[in-house]
Amino acid sequence: MSTSERETFDVIVVGAGNAALTAALAARAAGARVVVLEKASLKLRGGNTRFSGGVFRCTYRSLADLVPIVQQHDSPETVVADPYTPVDYRKDIERVTGGRADPELTTVLVDRAYDTVRWMADLGVPWEFNRAVGAVTIPGAAKVKLPLGGALRVKGEGVMLSTALFRLAEEASIKVLYETQAVRIVTATDGQVTGVEVRGPDGMQILNCRALILGSGGFQANPEMRTAYLGPAWSLVKVRGTRFDTGEMLRAALAVGAQSYGEWAGCHATPIDADAPTYGELRLTDKTNRLSYPFSVMVNLDGERFVDEGEDFNLYTYAKMGRQILQERGAVVFQIFDRKTIPLLETRYNTGTPVTADTLPELVDRLEERYRSLGIRKATMLKTLEDYNAAVQDGVFNPDILDKKRTQGLRPEKTNWATRLDEPPFQAYAVSLGITFTFGGLRINTNAEVVDYLERPIPGLFATGEITGGFFYLNYPAGAGLTRGAVFGRIAGTNAAQFAREQS
Ligand SMILES: Cc1cc2nc3c(=O)[nH]c(=O)nc-3n(C[C@H](O)[C@H](O)[C@H](O)COP(=O)(O)OP(=O)(O)OC[C@H]3O[C@@H](n4cnc5c(N)ncnc54)[C@H](O)[C@@H]3O)c2cc1C
Repeated sequence: MSTSERETFDVIVVGAGNAALTAALAARAAGARVVVLEKASLKLRGGNTRFSGGVFRCTYRSLADLVPIVQQHDSPETVVADPYTPVDYRKDIERVTGGRADPELTTVLVDRAYDTVRWMADLGVPWEFNRAVGAVTIPGAAKVKLPLGGALRVKGEGVMLSTALFRLAEEASIKVLYETQAVRIVTATDGQVTGVEVRGPDGMQILNCRALILGSGGFQANPEMRTAYLGPAWSLVKVRGTRFDTGEMLRAALAVGAQSYGEWAGCHATPIDADAPTYGELRLTDKTNRLSYPFSVMVNLDGERFVDEGEDFNLYTYAKMGRQILQERGAVVFQIFDRKTIPLLETRYNTGTPVTADTLPELVDRLEERYRSLGIRKATMLKTLEDYNAAVQDGVFNPDILDKKRTQGLRPEKTNWATRLDEPPFQAYAVSLGITFTFGGLRINTNAEVVDYLERPIPGLFATGEITGGFFYLNYPAGAGLTRGAVFGRIAGTNAAQFAREQS
């Protein structure tokens, strides 16, 4: 690295996840000389992207739009897909964010989602139909109905997405500097970005550039920033993904005048196995998720229900469900299923060991035995389960739709998919929460330029992915995180390359 100290790169990209590497590829394709800085080692590279399920939310008019994307890796005979239009995508974002998402950034995300996924497919990222997360088997038809909007995922999920992007970067002669942490943005007196200070294998040094793209993720792996922005309760939570997204470049950008934007007290946090490790592990990636709760009854350690398990499909509630679990004593709850609903469990439940019994009293006894140190209120739990069974209304259970099969007279009610716990075996999974990523970040405009408080671009500074704010509030629709990173990564890379060209 010592030789690079005095040279000026056209574009430096901070981070090596989906957002950063799509930006690097776009900048390189636009003719820029690009270097990527990765804080992690070669072995641990790739950020949250590598842990992800690889689902990209995008629009399509019909299955035919998806076929060219998956063509070398999958075939459409066994799947069906309802259309997912830009109006649907926008409505989903508006609905789950309570109408707060930035309208201009949302428009770009929605309008460029399909085109960006096709661009990635053309580059060589392998895609398949998402038959796993949120997909529903159609009884008797031997077909799977793909989840609306989340119909595609990268074949081999986040691990393969990461592998493919690094391979493409290598093929494009993009150099990646590992164990190189960006710590400060260097600007000229006129405010233009001229470089970045890094801490790397050779110590501290400044790398010069004409344009800088920040793709270094959120601050979810930084306990100090979690405590400061999300609140003290978040200090000790488990982190689902990488341990390297610690927010220092967010602070560095704020220090040069970037506008902070979005919900800094908000994050994506999901129900995960109560025994999951403190940070994500690559042997488990996203397999600790416990997202079949709409078909369960969820009770806390005090034996009480605390949420409408069936408010909506899990892909529209899972990102906020973690926060709800955090509010319960000990941040541990139980998801309880019976013979009717056990077949609906996602295969990811295989990474856990449930408590099983043939009667509800026996189940509660066994839970108490296994989790004695947590202090379960057995009598209340049993009564809650019996009251729940008594409150379930008749109706047709259908996991494919919001079936309105509900309870009557409970607080909270279960408003869809309420079936009685009355057929053994009964199974209970202990569930806690894991933080996935933070929602607050830097304000960018539709050109992926980072702007100041007067909404003027900071010359030479671009950003994409989880480091940006204003897209998601309270919640997010599954698969929109990766798409957001790639859509704005491509825009950032193209525009940073042009900016660099104009400077040279
Ligand atoms: C278990 C799990 C499953 C998920 N599944 C999905 C899914 O299926 N679909 C979806 O849309 N989203 C999913 N997400 C969210 C998704 O991972 C993210 O939205 C997306 O990968 C974020 O990409 P990114 O490039 O912004 O950040 P990251 O992929 O986290 O990349 C950040 C990069 O920056 C590096 N870095 C950080 N600080 C510095 C620094 N100072 N200097 C240099 N480098 C630095 C990190 O090492 C890393 O390489 C999932 C997340 C997790 C944890």
